[in-house]
Amino acid sequence: MDATVGGRILLKLKSIVLFCWSSSKTYSLFFVTIVVSSVALSLLITALHHQREREYLNQITQQQHIQLKSILFTLENTADIVFENVINQPDIIDLMARASRASESERGALRTRLFERLAPAYQLMEARGGRLLHFHLPGGISFLRFHRTDVYGDDLTEVRPSINQVNESGDVVRGFEEGRVFQGFRNVYPLRQGDELVGTVDISYSFLALRDLAVRLFPAIYTLMYHKESVARVAGEEDQGRYRQCRVSPFYLKEQEAVAHIKAELPGLNIVSLETLQQLNSDLREQVAERMEARAEFSVSRLIPGDHKILVVTFLPIRNIQGDAVAYFVSYRPDRNVADYNRRYHQMRRVIVALTLIFFFSGLLYYRQTLHKEKYQALATSDRLTRLANRLHFDLVLDQILRQVRRGEQSLSLLMLDIDNFKQVNDVYGHDGGDRVLVSVAGVLRGTVREQDLAARWGGEEFVVLLPGASGEEAGRVAEKIRQAIADHETVSGSQMIQVTCSFGVAEYGKGMTAEELLKRADQGLYLAKERGKNCVVRS
Ligand code: GH3
Ligand code: MG
Ligand code: MG
Repeated sequence: MDATVGGRILLKLKSIVLFCWSSSKTYSLFFVTIVVSSVALSLLITALHHQREREYLNQITQQQHIQLKSILFTLENTADIVFENVINQPDIIDLMARASRASESERGALRTRLFERLAPAYQLMEARGGRLLHFHLPGGISFLRFHRTDVYGDDLTEVRPSINQVNESGDVVRGFEEGRVFQGFRNVYPLRQGDELVGTVDISYSFLALRDLAVRLFPAIYTLMYHKESVARVAGEEDQGRYRQCRVSPFYLKEQEAVAHIKAELPGLNIVSLETLQQLNSDLREQVAERMEARAEFSVSRLIPGDHKILVVTFLPIRNIQGDAVAYFVSYRPDRNVADYNRRYHQMRRVIVALTLIFFFSGLLYYRQTLHKEKYQALATSDRLTRLANRLHFDLVLDQILRQVRRGEQSLSLLMLDIDNFKQVNDVYGHDGGDRVLVSVAGVLRGTVREQDLAARWGGEEFVVLLPGASGEEAGRVAEKIRQAIADHETVSGSQMIQVTCSFGVAEYGKGMTAEELLKRADQGLYLAKERGKNCVVRS
């Protein structure tokens, strides 16, 4: 929303709230309740949405974990089959036994024989997923690397704890382990001739092979990230060139070869373009930094701008045989559920905003109508100048009360009063001064009569007061009280003070009397009061 439009709406809302507060506390509370409830509801929905997304992402992480485990299990099983059926053969064991006892110069010929014996099997293994085959002499000396036949004789005890473990325990050791030439999932088997350990063999899968299998089994984008420290620990200078910096984290490296595989796969996977993936990786940096630093297992969701697609990125830490998390197996997969959750969440929020606005403005409309109604009702029943009841309203109330009085034993009296010599007031103080006197006399009346009494302007400078329950005598006393109050009262008109008096006629309701007769009686009393010199009360 435009900032200025937003600002204007806020100002408008503020003025509405202030207006309501100043005119009606009940309505203000209604509006405040609507706004507070809608804000509370929005916050609740947001919290629930985040919780649901978190739980869903945790589920995805678990699912990816299981997928990775099942891939590893498949690879381990295959390695076992290769070991039992191809490697663990009497002639090969015999060759290794001789090599373990031979001098360095004799070993060359044995190495060549072993290579020739297993080269066809190794080619088959390579073709089926990049497996590596590496024989070692007892004590961890490299004897033959099928993947790099020119490098041998080096001591592996410092870099390959798995081989040391097999030498010590005599049992097969499996797990991820960094190596001089590659990083991979190792299966290190003991080679025995009788009770004697004549060497060890490592049937390994490069991390890359595992990644390729994952793409085939569960199509998605998969990448591998190695912690810089672990690469630096084992890889030689020349091998470090096989890695490049990750965009996601400055502490992790990627294999160039894995990057090439991803580039080749991307068009077929039809998930995102390479540029989008690179941008996504850069954007993820801050979001994942802390969790990657903690070597945690987690998933995050990310909207791909333009594509309106949500990708879930899962980070699974890979631990080496010692239990240190040295790498991450990362997957990127499009996810409809997160997109649906998000859409429903935004829809819900829009509905809340719409309902709030509807309630708010309906309330406001209702409030304004009520105000108008009250205003017109007041105008229809009251006198504009004095704000006392008008003659019409007085007549209606008088009829109503007379009906009640006729049914019961209750008494009723009526006062009629007229300002004395009002013409002179107008003449001396002007019409405005006269009006002020009328208003202040009305004020005195309002302040003197009881709550159940009704004072009204009868017309001109004449007023009537209906006193339900009052006898003629009581009404006379009330009239006297009012007379005195008016006589004592001073009306301020500019710099002048105006004092007036009133004459009163008092009539008590008698059985069978009509409204006209009651009024006429009071009027007669008033006439007599004028006759008797004004500023007095006459009961008739
Ligand atoms: P009395 O003591 O006999 O009642 O004499 P009075 O002068 O009060 O009576 P009169 O009937 O001769 O005059 C009433 C005056 O009240 C005439 C009229 O102009 C004035 N009047 C009536 N209605 C209003 C009003 O609303 N405002 C003002 N300022 N004067 C009014
Ligand atoms: Mg008069
Ligand atoms: Mg008069």
